Amino acid sequence: MRKKIVAGNWKMNTTVESAPELVGGLLDASWPDDVQLIIAPPFTQLGVVAQQIQSSNIGLSAQNCHEKESGAYTGEISVAMLESAGVEYVILGHSERRTYFGEDDNLIYLKTKVALKQGLKVILCVGEKLSEREIDNHFKVVQKQIENTLCLFGKTEAANIVIAYEPVWAIGTGKTASAEQAEEMHGFIREVVANHFDNDFAEGISILYGGSCKPSNAKEIFSQQNVDGGLIGGASLSAEDFVAIANSF
Ligand code: PEP
Repeated sequence: MRKKIVAGNWKMNTTVESAPELVGGLLDASWPDDVQLIIAPPFTQLGVVAQQIQSSNIGLSAQNCHEKESGAYTGEISVAMLESAGVEYVILGHSERRTYFGEDDNLIYLKTKVALKQGLKVILCVGEKLSEREIDNHFKVVQKQIENTLCLFGKTEAANIVIAYEPVWAIGTGKTASAEQAEEMHGFIREVVANHFDNDFAEGISILYGGSCKPSNAKEIFSQQNVDGGLIGGASLSAEDFVAIANSF
């Protein structure tokens, strides 16, 4: 059985003062036991959120890490720092980091490598731009992103990676991939993973959908055979919406 996951990427939102209220809304709510809820607050809120969720089953993720273990990298955050703050997961390869911060597959691979080596689980984002889908290049683009990152690891390490398929044209735009488009790409990703590793391995890996996922469309998307949950941006800033999404399986 693949793990069902609903992860909330808070991006550059909330403060040390406002985060506890959002987390409080989650702690007061319920969702199925077989759904792993994960939240990814900004760095400065990790400590306060970690304390608040410590006796819950909510997982804590960071939104980024540096590719080096330590050293003279002013302003950066290492995996060890995240772990000492209580973090278990890190989101890597998000399209906003690829677009605004020039992160390429090689850097994402290096970050994934250090994160896995030091014991974090990785939520690895892949996805095509609209211009790439328009010329029917979306499968090739996503295949390459996976081959340049996940496929460079052995099975033991890769088992700690969750893939998030996030078509760039659907992130924060209100445009969602249809359930059929999501299923088509998720099935393809599983095939790429199976061809590189094997069927059993590919069957065990969780593949999340991300891109304007909300309570009104989550049920249809999550009902697809190869969709194991979602990476949620905007809607994760409302405890009510986020929990409604987690209750959509
Ligand atoms: C995201 O940033 O990972 C995301 C899916 O954002 P949104 O849900 O707002 O489209």
